[in-house]
Amino acid sequence: MTDLSKLPSVDRLLAAPALAPHLAAHGRAVVTGVVRDTLAAARAAAKAGAPLPDAAALLAKVGAGVTVAMQPKLRAVFNLTGTVLHTNLGRAPLPEEAIAAIVTAARSPCALEYDIESGGRGDRDDIVNDLLCELTGAEAATVVNNNAAAVFLLLNTLAQRKEVVVSRGELIEIGGAFRVPDIMKRAGAKLVEVGTTNRTHLKDFAEALTPRTAMLMKVHASNYAIQGFTHAVPEAELAALAHQHNLPFVVDLGSGTLTELERWGLPHEPTPRENIVAGADLVTFSGDKLLGGPQAGLLVGRKDLIARIKKNPLKRALRVGKLTMAALEAVLRLYRGPDRMHERLTALAQLTRPEAEMRAAAARLLPALQQALAHLPVTVEIVALMSQIGSGSLPVNRLPSAGLAIRPQGKKGGVLGRIEAALRGVAYPGRPVIGRIEDGALLLDLRCLAAAEETEFAAQLSTLSRLGA
Ligand SMILES: *Cc1c(COP(=O)(O)O)cnc(C)c1O
Repeated sequence: MTDLSKLPSVDRLLAAPALAPHLAAHGRAVVTGVVRDTLAAARAAAKAGAPLPDAAALLAKVGAGVTVAMQPKLRAVFNLTGTVLHTNLGRAPLPEEAIAAIVTAARSPCALEYDIESGGRGDRDDIVNDLLCELTGAEAATVVNNNAAAVFLLLNTLAQRKEVVVSRGELIEIGGAFRVPDIMKRAGAKLVEVGTTNRTHLKDFAEALTPRTAMLMKVHASNYAIQGFTHAVPEAELAALAHQHNLPFVVDLGSGTLTELERWGLPHEPTPRENIVAGADLVTFSGDKLLGGPQAGLLVGRKDLIARIKKNPLKRALRVGKLTMAALEAVLRLYRGPDRMHERLTALAQLTRPEAEMRAAAARLLPALQQALAHLPVTVEIVALMSQIGSGSLPVNRLPSAGLAIRPQGKKGGVLGRIEAALRGVAYPGRPVIGRIEDGALLLDLRCLAAAEETEFAAQLSTLSRLGA
């Protein structure tokens, strides 16, 4: 029977010089908690017959335990899923200009709502108002927390206790529980659906108008496509019909990009400017989808309508903070000089990355991955892949990419799950690797792995060598 009294006391461990740096960095409460847990685990193991660890072994365990206890929940990861604007992984990575602006705004007081010229109170929307107007052709703009908030605020301001006419084919759900009918209800507006799922005509809208109609609305059916026998009413016709009846025509664009994506070889995505030219009175879109900026909801359009929206008390509840404003301003400035956009805007750089670059990266990383997995019954090879834009861009639009595929030899599929879990479980301060399992293979799409990150990525593959065969 092991003599448990030989284990050092909590106080003796806490007094050990090895723990002094941890105590200084993280405080007594955290370290004491880990010491207690470590001793309890050693006691339990000893009762089960394990030998008592010596003080050095205990202190090493405490050190590791403190590192785990203090690791952030919001961990940086490697997004090798092949989906560039991955909502669950934080959507658009920000360009360096935006990161620098966030750091400055975080560290120093800044003129968020302060007019430096007059010395009086300012309006935080003024930071980006002119840029947004220049880039979209709108008269005025305002910014809230995300596009769902923008749609909500718009409806609540202009359509409370009134009717909003929308095509049935556009009553969409965006991942993460944004459903147009639900938002409409919460905003206090009554939804009037017109047309059928696949076809809606101008007369469907015209016949739905009543004295209680507040607006005509178009929702960009971002994350799915209806193909075949379809008809949607052109925006200019909807705008004309709305204006004949003195009603606003509003568009929830979803992923609003401010540049012509086909310029960069990507599929066309409608821009807020196109909506405004077609006669839209208000357009809402996200800051962190194709725009490539921070999470935000942007509302642009007619000055009188934006003014009403800004007066809604809920605007105060949905507004953005200084870090978001700092990043948004920096990103919008990049759009003013669009020549090297595809290099400077990180999200666009990832979306337009040439296939040959991913293929070369795969060739560089193949030996390290093969070596790390040599003891397991799997094969590793370079494969052609298709990446997705993500975040509600059409899933049918795919981007040729390349990466590494891990396949089980024979029928032992279980090994893939273990490799996937090990890559996902990379210990802090390493970065968990998120790939995707498809058709019996674990796929690592290298589009979003920057060349400068390859060494860090390869170094942590050694985690895999600890997996049992
Ligand atoms: C993504 C999307 C939203 C929600 O935008 P968030 O910025 O995620 O709140 C709303 N409408 C459409 C059409 C979208 O594509």
